[in-house]
Amino acid sequence: MAELQLSPSQLAAYQDCPRRYLATQGQRETTAAMSLGAAVHEALFHWHQRGGFGMLGQEALLALLADHWRREGYADRSAEAASYHRGQASLRAYYAAGPGPGVPIAHEAYRRCTVQLHGHRLQLRGRFDRVDLLPGIAGPSPGAGGRIAVVDYKVSRIEPPLARQLALSPAIFAYYLLARAHYPHYAEVRVTVLYLRPEGVVRREIAYPPAVAARAREWLADVVGGLIEGEMQPRSGAFCVRCRVQDSCPTGHCPTLTLGLEGGSYGPTKVC
Ligand code: SF4
Repeated sequence: MAELQLSPSQLAAYQDCPRRYLATQGQRETTAAMSLGAAVHEALFHWHQRGGFGMLGQEALLALLADHWRREGYADRSAEAASYHRGQASLRAYYAAGPGPGVPIAHEAYRRCTVQLHGHRLQLRGRFDRVDLLPGIAGPSPGAGGRIAVVDYKVSRIEPPLARQLALSPAIFAYYLLARAHYPHYAEVRVTVLYLRPEGVVRREIAYPPAVAARAREWLADVVGGLIEGEMQPRSGAFCVRCRVQDSCPTGHCPTLTLGLEGGSYGPTKVC
């Protein structure tokens, strides 16, 4: 039985382009997109830790962006300034969108679980940016009957896909599996993706009724099978223009954008 350890971000990177995934594994280089994403995530984490909506205003959120700003990965000062303004605009949009329907119960929660897929053993590890308790009828014991949403903040410039497209993304399904493993007593677990765009937040709610979960599991099994069999052919797409290995790629040079990788330490493993 083959065994793999992967995060949702690694699954997304492999699905985008296996060749780029292979070429960038183990690289520690920080890109501008990584720096911006990390600063925005840290600002939101600390803002919520100090009370968030109802306790703090927009200016506190912007001040936290300044406190946690990272300068690595920028070509020059003007690129860094443009990124800083984008970060400010994204956080203003987050604040303007308001708290949403749920009550946050955790932030930056690192989780693991183990999944059996077509005879392979996949160890998933990932970080929930936020976990919300959604309104609904509570059950007889803590968690029983309630509803949970694990929230993922996206700062990248990609056009937000539709919820039904995201449902079949191995990365989003991996978040769902991690959440299902760690909140087994809740009647419903969903994934909420918040695209923090300067012009406004785009919210996508991804639920997994049994038929959708079965299809997503097949997609995930295909991706894991490709990784195990060493399928690393280039797959050109919207992310080629910012690809760090574009110069050595025979099929690159497409004119748009990319996604970043994440990392961190993780909590106890559970079996999904
Ligand atoms: S240039 Fe495009 S196709 Fe080539 S490795 Fe990079 S992302 Fe993949």
